[in-house]
Amino acid sequence: MDRRAILDDLLVPPGASAHIAKIDPASTPHAPGDRATTEAASAELNRELADLQLRLWAEAERSVLVVLQAMDAGGKDGTVKKVFAGVNPQGCRVTSFKAPSEEEQAHDFLWRVHQAVPRAGEIGIFNRSHYEEVLIVRVHDLVPEKVWSKRYRAIADFEALLADSGTTVVKFFLHISKEEQAERFRKRVAKPHKRWKFRLADLEERKHWDAYAAAYEDALSKTSTAAAPWYVVPADHKWYRDFAVLSVLVGTLRSMDPKYPPPDPSIDLDSIVID
Ligand code: ATP
Ligand code: MG
Repeated sequence: MDRRAILDDLLVPPGASAHIAKIDPASTPHAPGDRATTEAASAELNRELADLQLRLWAEAERSVLVVLQAMDAGGKDGTVKKVFAGVNPQGCRVTSFKAPSEEEQAHDFLWRVHQAVPRAGEIGIFNRSHYEEVLIVRVHDLVPEKVWSKRYRAIADFEALLADSGTTVVKFFLHISKEEQAERFRKRVAKPHKRWKFRLADLEERKHWDAYAAAYEDALSKTSTAAAPWYVVPADHKWYRDFAVLSVLVGTLRSMDPKYPPPDPSIDLDSIVID
């Protein structure tokens, strides 16, 4: 199997328009087989990701920032749980972005985001992100258009700064269908262990589906860059979603090729006696 094919196919090419509506959320491009076969491949990728993360941590020079965006019930939480299963929590930092606090709102929109970026050696995971500032903010007119429309450039510049500072930025849009969202909401209402996740506001947001889709297309088109690419992951099938995100992440880390640092040359390891 061509390992890079899935990255190439899910990528939003820099400068191109992202046509999310043309991508089938139930499709499974480059899955190695049926659900069971794909889950077995994902387990293998989980192990490889754990190994690559260990090397990134030991090298302690560069970092990775994973951005997860999706409609409500799009699977951000599930992706964090499944993709990073087996990865040493010591080298990971997950940040979930909610509506900004009074303090956060009193600063520029990237202030809280910059504080949460991974330090050298870490994988940072954003569950929602600075992109909310051109998504929910735009859909609900939380600031005037002349304010949010300038944010695409600010975001691209910010991500270029991170890239120049040794942070590889990888962004995922988990793409579910409107019907799949309805099904997941029904499950949230019906199942006692899922009910805590359900908010009435989710139904309100669902009414703005088309406006969100348009805002996503714009955001992905304007901010997929070589330094910080967007990948659109068909996400109706959770087993495919996990496989696809793992494939892109492992592919990205393989290209970074983090290395264990060489032993201190001033120490003659052969002469060391530990008693
Ligand atoms: P799930 O998808 O599992 O429900 P969630 O990410 O929606 O998880 P919630 O606590 O339900 O978690 O919602 C967080 C809310 O915070 C979202 O509605 C999101 O749009 C909102 N939010 C995040 N960042 C911003 C922002 N910068 N400005 C305004 N609202 C924001
Ligand atoms: Mg929610």
